[in-house]
Amino acid sequence: MQYTLSQTVSLSGIGLHSAEIVNLTIHPADPHHGIIFKRIKHSKDQGQITETQSYVPALYNNVIDTRLCTVIGNEHGVTISTIEHLMAAFRGLGIDNALVEIDGMEVPIMDGSADAFVKAFEEAGLQQQSAPRKAIRILEEIIYEEGDKRASLKPSIIPTYKGTIQYDNPFIGEQSFDFKLINGNFKHDLADCRTFCLLQDVQMMQANGLAQGGSMDNAIVVDDNGVMNEAGLRCHNEFIRHKLLDAIGDLALAGGLVLGEYESHKGGHAMNNKLVRKLFDTPSAYEVIDLYVDLHAPDQDVYVAETLSKALS
Ligand SMILES: [Zn+2]
Repeated sequence: MQYTLSQTVSLSGIGLHSAEIVNLTIHPADPHHGIIFKRIKHSKDQGQITETQSYVPALYNNVIDTRLCTVIGNEHGVTISTIEHLMAAFRGLGIDNALVEIDGMEVPIMDGSADAFVKAFEEAGLQQQSAPRKAIRILEEIIYEEGDKRASLKPSIIPTYKGTIQYDNPFIGEQSFDFKLINGNFKHDLADCRTFCLLQDVQMMQANGLAQGGSMDNAIVVDDNGVMNEAGLRCHNEFIRHKLLDAIGDLALAGGLVLGEYESHKGGHAMNNKLVRKLFDTPSAYEVIDLYVDLHAPDQDVYVAETLSKALS
């Protein structure tokens, strides 16, 4: 079934790139609404934007930039950046419908993870709705490759996310993780895993006027001697776990639960968006179905697998 929030949630924080305070007001929404962003204050350089021009649905085909984060926009020049951790929190908790009012151009970075969003949503509570969840069931394998980078989707009854990263920096090195998006696992296994960067990349971005709000309060920073954050890592493989958190956020832009197995090698926002575009360009590779099963029910993988296979057979 579909879910929304039980009540409106408010959150504030700084934008990673602008270093400005941004306020989010997230409202419950009707079944089939999806996640839609609405800019409620516009910068002077945007000119006149009317209320009806302020909406941007969180969908893969509204993605206009993926170089540093995932950015969506509409034809009136309204853009919202860094949506991926918030989108991961929605999908991770199984929230299908919400209206996100935002008074700046980027979603606040919070601590660099999805933790603050998850906590705020859990505090507000979730509301089950009287409509089945839309699921995009993968029927055949889709692969998107670019050089040594690879992202793929293949059939699976359980929504699964697998990934590998490979960095020359020995403190990140090679890490793999395998994750099932059921039973509230997102909250326990991925939600508080933070974004990360190499010190030299941060210095370069800041010299170019980017990541002005970036600090060790909202990212793991790694240099040649290891993790620079005083408190260290939250878990030994926080890097790859964060990559999968990003992937869940990026795939949430498919507009429904992706029922399949995602796998990436050296993946990122650009690869994820191209993979989703390729999926929707290949009609034989998926079907849209109604899902009445609750994936966040009892704490048993077997139960979910059996219930899903019955529901899908
Ligand atoms: Zn991220």
